[in-house]
Amino acid sequence: MSKPKPFPAITGSCVCNTVRYRLLTSPLYCYACHCADCQKSSGGAFGWFLNIEAYNISIISPTHPVIVAREKKPGALDRHMECPKCKTELWSNNVLGTAICSIRVGTLDFPSLMEPDVHSYVGSKVEWIKLPEGAKTTEKEVNHKELWPKSSLKRLEICMARVAETTRKKQAALAEPQEGTTGGGGEGDAEGTGGEGEKTPTAVEFEDKDAEDDEAFEKRFKETEKALQERLEKLSLKLEEEEVTKKARELTL
Ligand SMILES: [Zn+2]
Ligand SMILES: [Zn+2]
Repeated sequence: MSKPKPFPAITGSCVCNTVRYRLLTSPLYCYACHCADCQKSSGGAFGWFLNIEAYNISIISPTHPVIVAREKKPGALDRHMECPKCKTELWSNNVLGTAICSIRVGTLDFPSLMEPDVHSYVGSKVEWIKLPEGAKTTEKEVNHKELWPKSSLKRLEICMARVAETTRKKQAALAEPQEGTTGGGGEGDAEGTGGEGEKTPTAVEFEDKDAEDDEAFEKRFKETEKALQERLEKLSLKLEEEEVTKKARELTL
């Protein structure tokens, strides 16, 4: 079995560079949303996001982002992480709950590494934006069950199973407090992302996966590896190109 290659250093930051982060693996999905809400909240032509598990974002700066939750319009709670200094929004949570983040792609150091897998709400797309030929589009929101690649759906399942397991452990610890221990200690979550252990609607769906034995888990994980590796190689190539272009730019300055 070949050793998995280390994931290329895909990093990002806020505008003032106080909060810096790194992705520990390739994203689950990337999309551009042309809905009116994304246009208003970004002040731009569309919202551009990539989904990744909270525990696959590592904060590499001494300052961590802060969680901000506000009701932007009735019934629509926006929960995002932002730089405490310059207030740049780095990522938010969507219908999948707090364990999955929607990173704002523009906060990556090399945003052009990412290309939308789909363009959603194309009905409200500004007219002067011409989508690349053959680009996948949808009139509605991104339905992950229909659109995400199989490998990403498997990762989502693993992530949700972990959330359910952490929740179960926390509840068990709360049910029988003993020897002065406090419940919790979520394993594996990236610090400061707040993605651990909170009960999400989707977590319930996956609770029966708790029973899965290590061997089956290992097998499913291996299956996702190949698909990931392909995505990873594509990203590495693009990253190298970006760095060469950057160097060339620096030399001509
Ligand atoms: Zn949108
Ligand atoms: Zn900042």
